Amino acid sequence: MSVLSEMLRNLFSKPVTTRYPAERVPIPDGFRGRVGCADDRCIGCSKCSLVCPASAITMVDSPRMVEFKGRTLERKKRPSIALYQCIRCGLCERHCPADAIHLRNGQSINGSTLDEVVTCTL
Ligand code: SF4
Ligand code: SF4
Repeated sequence: MSVLSEMLRNLFSKPVTTRYPAERVPIPDGFRGRVGCADDRCIGCSKCSLVCPASAITMVDSPRMVEFKGRTLERKKRPSIALYQCIRCGLCERHCPADAIHLRNGQSINGSTLDEVVTCTL
């Protein structure tokens, strides 16, 4: 193929890239994306923090009342997750006894402030 015909073909063909984030490709089921924790379910047991191989979870102060297995518990801590440090292994989700922490299908952890990449709330 000559250079000229290659140029003409590319000139009239659609771009192969997507205009992310305006256009997003469908995310498959089971995609391990952004990690989030539901404050109202978390019992502050620290298991997620202990199993995290990337040391991405730090337990921080968060006094609150939580319903767990029919009882109301006074809890003092919740996990804070450094999303830029997380390797999306899913161990925190697997070991959480309260079904409080999950990997969601959010693709991006872009952010310009620390609060945008360190999270707890789902
Ligand atoms: S998915 Fe893995 S690396 Fe990420 S916070 Fe959970 S345990 Fe840590
Ligand atoms: S998210 Fe789950 S494992 Fe982590 S502190 Fe809360 S209850 Fe425990």
